Formats: sequence, structure tokens, C-alpha cells
Amino acid sequence: MSYIGRFAPSPTGPLHSGSLIAAVASYLQAKSLQGKWLLRIEDLDPPRELKGAADDIIRTLDHFGFEWDDQICYQSKRRERYEAILEQLQQQDHSYPCICSRTDIQAAGSMTAFGIRYPGTCRQGIPRTKTPHSIRIRVTDKTISFADKIQGQYQQNLEHDVGDFIIKRADGQTAYQLAVVIDDAAQGITEIVRGSDLLDSTPRQIYLQQLLGYPTPDYAHIPVIVNRHGEKLSKQTGASAIDTESAGATLVHALCYLNHQVPQSLQLAPVSEIWQWAIEHWQLQQVAQRRVIEA
Ligand code: GLU
Repeated sequence: MSYIGRFAPSPTGPLHSGSLIAAVASYLQAKSLQGKWLLRIEDLDPPRELKGAADDIIRTLDHFGFEWDDQICYQSKRRERYEAILEQLQQQDHSYPCICSRTDIQAAGSMTAFGIRYPGTCRQGIPRTKTPHSIRIRVTDKTISFADKIQGQYQQNLEHDVGDFIIKRADGQTAYQLAVVIDDAAQGITEIVRGSDLLDSTPRQIYLQQLLGYPTPDYAHIPVIVNRHGEKLSKQTGASAIDTESAGATLVHALCYLNHQVPQSLQLAPVSEIWQWAIEHWQLQQVAQRRVIEA
């Protein structure tokens, strides 16, 4: 089977150094294995999106010399497909409507290492007079484990650690966890290389893949860049947009975070030459086996 990887940014702002590193790692993994690399814009969260950010991200990737295969997938155009799967899950009784507000859950839920566990309040049904806020998937008391290619063995018991989780949000949008699973399957993704901040979402995604009869791809979660307060670099934590003026130097820097030292003689070379070197020398095993790296 041939390799298909992907990069799936959310257009909440311009590309910053943290997301560039995820893009570089997933790209090199795909290209070094003569695979395809697909681009998907995860634009399912209008309140958090910045106008023009999707185009800005695409322009920046292009400027850095990334070459994606096939057409760009926009999640905002996939609503019908998501609705069909939501309907299917509901009919098979894998999901149920929920009327709990955030405050209700905070009051009744228990705290786990992964956040507040949903206490299952609406599992047995909701009063007929109430309008549902969201749709949740029923989880089971079963350990889901997988071997991450960078972080090693990882496991969660969804029943104990997370509880029934949201697959359709109160604002009517399909939740990230479901949309990403549907699209990874639809695009035939064989391996997912992304930031370690999504490591603890992976068991939820594997659970949904199993319910829907989809194959589970391989996973490699790269360390995320944090500031000195331990916060992931993002627009919210004040990360600046990356420097596109000196794309070569920025790329050399990103490769350095991934433990790939570009030879001195190439450091001022055009990006195409840096890419050529990086594709030839890329080794996923060289990436630090850590969850975070300080900027
Ligand atoms: N859209 C997500 C983000 O930008 C990434 C999703 C994924 O790689 O699974 O954080």
C-alpha cells in the first residue's frame, strides 16, 4: 500500500513556527517514502477563525516550497457527508442528544488527567420538551492503546478517562474528533504526523474509526514547541507569524527542532536545495522522543 500523509491546519491565524514544524515533519515523512501529501483546511470553527487565514496559510506553504497532491480539502464543504455519518451513528444507537451546559458538566463531572469527564447525565435520554445542545458518542469500558512512532505506547480507557464525548457541537458544527476521522478515512490517510498536543485525542479517534469500520492509520506525534511558561506556541499565546522573507533560514531552523542539522554549505541555499537535502536525509526516528521542546 502506498503512503498518504497530510497536514490539516485550522485557519485560526497565520501559520506560526509550531505549525510549520508539523507541516515540515509530515511533508518529509511522506516525500521520503515517495508518498502523497495532502492538505486539508479544518475550517469548522467559524468563531475562532480569522478571515483570510486559510488563504494566508496556503500562500505561506507555497512560498516555502511545499508541494501538495490532489485538491485542497475544505471541511466547511463536507457538511453533507458529516450529517450522513451523524445520522448513521444515531440510528445505530452509538450516540445520543445531550442538553448539559458547560456549567452542568463542571458541577457534576469528575476531573481526570485529560480534563473533566462527562458524567453521562443524558445517556438514558432527555425530557421530550428539551432541545438538545449537542450529540455525544457512547464510549465503552475498554482500553484503547496504540504504538506511536515517536511517543511510544499510549493508552486510555475512554469510559474512565474521558466519558461520552461530543461529536456534534451545540452550535450545529460537527466536532473536530468526528470530522477528522471521517476525512482521514475518505482521503485514505495511512499515517498521521502531527503535534503531540493531539496525542490524547487519538484514542477517541481510534474508537470512532472502529465504530465506523475504518482502518486505523499509523501515528507519529512530534514534540510541540512551548514558551517558557510551558504554553504551546499559538496565536493565543502570542506566537508571531513566521518569517517568510528568509524562508531558507526558517526552514533550516525548523529542521533543527526536528534534530536534522542542515550542513553549513546549504544553510544559505535556495529552499529547493534545502528540501532536496532534507528529503534525502529525513529519519523520523531522529526526532526527539519528547512531548514538548522549549522555544
Ligand atoms: N486542525 C488541527 C489543528 O490545527 C489539527 C488536526 C490534526 O492534525 O489532526 O490543531
